[in-house]
Amino acid sequence: MKICVLPGDGIGPEITAEAVRVLQALDLRFEMEEGLLGGCAVDACDTPYPEATRNLARAADAILLGAVGGQQWDGLPREKRPERGLLGIRKDLNLFANLRPAILYPELANASTLKPEVVAGLDILIIRELTGDIYFGQPRGLREENGERVGFNTMVYSESEIRRIGHVAFQAAQKRGRKLCSVDKMNVLECTQLWRDVMIEVSKAYPDVELTHMLVDNAAMQLVKAPKQFDVMVTGNMFGDILSDEASMLTGSIGMLPSASLDEKNKGLYEPSHGSAPDIAGRGIANPLATILSVAMMLRYTFGLEEQALRVENAVKKVLAGGYRTGDIYERGMLKVGTKEMGDAVLAALA
Ligand code: NAD
Repeated sequence: MKICVLPGDGIGPEITAEAVRVLQALDLRFEMEEGLLGGCAVDACDTPYPEATRNLARAADAILLGAVGGQQWDGLPREKRPERGLLGIRKDLNLFANLRPAILYPELANASTLKPEVVAGLDILIIRELTGDIYFGQPRGLREENGERVGFNTMVYSESEIRRIGHVAFQAAQKRGRKLCSVDKMNVLECTQLWRDVMIEVSKAYPDVELTHMLVDNAAMQLVKAPKQFDVMVTGNMFGDILSDEASMLTGSIGMLPSASLDEKNKGLYEPSHGSAPDIAGRGIANPLATILSVAMMLRYTFGLEEQALRVENAVKKVLAGGYRTGDIYERGMLKVGTKEMGDAVLAALA
């Protein structure tokens, strides 16, 4: 099992160090190698996704990423910006399925802006198609028409693109509550009528999963009205972009949310949903739990080690129940800890 570790920028190195310690504590045989991605790669190699990193990432089964970006690189030309490294690696490895869980641990129910009874116990998995849709469709651009500027983009999905994300979603639902809600806008958009038709076809192979459909405007409302009705949601790139951010904010704590981006063979890039947090970098106070929970996703989705994944997730639950909190999730009466102490607490809970 080969893992490529890309700590990245800002708090990236601090939080990935704790996630690597958790991996090492599991007594599994991993080969781990570190590489450069993002701003640190621009500084060292003049490009955000250097060839050495590309070779490491291609040869690995899974990639663990911290975060990339920071103000010092914001003035660079677009192709040299750290975020280009991230888009580059996702595209290079054909990571078409983005999995973002939104889980609200009962101990953190007060962190949400919604009423505790609406969100306590929330556990949703949003699956977003990541390499198609209006973000990549051609033609696109700006043109002059009747003396004014016109902007245009193309929403396009092929049957095979919908089918492959459909299989990922049904299989993920089989590992959870066996309920899948497919989100589209079939009343207006032909492209998403095809999405719905293909999802229904794919569902025939998964009779144990209950498939429902929802229009995206209603899904946005239901997510804040009654989010616990959802188990797994699957949708296209643009709707998924918006709904996954909405769902993550139901939990109120960005330092807790992991993510996975998978290819057709379940090779994956695993990273926290937050950025490089330059405002707190180097101070040893960042919350490492999103990155540690990303490791749990790696164990589950790339390596098929469900039991080990649960071990890590249960250790995190135990640490929260024990009152350990980094600054971002701190409440009065709890035990305030830094990045390394939080890592120590998870290791102790694992043992
Ligand atoms: P951010 O997620 O880095 O930070 C937003 C706020 O949340 C900050 O106050 C930060 O201190 C806090 N925060 C984030 N993660 C935390 C953690 N683990 N523990 C405690 N607090 C945490 O978003 P931003 O400030 O908009 O962006 C900063 C940089 O990160 C930018 O350069 C941006 O481009 C980049 N970024 C990278 C990724 C990625 O690598 N996938 C994603 C988003 C943003």
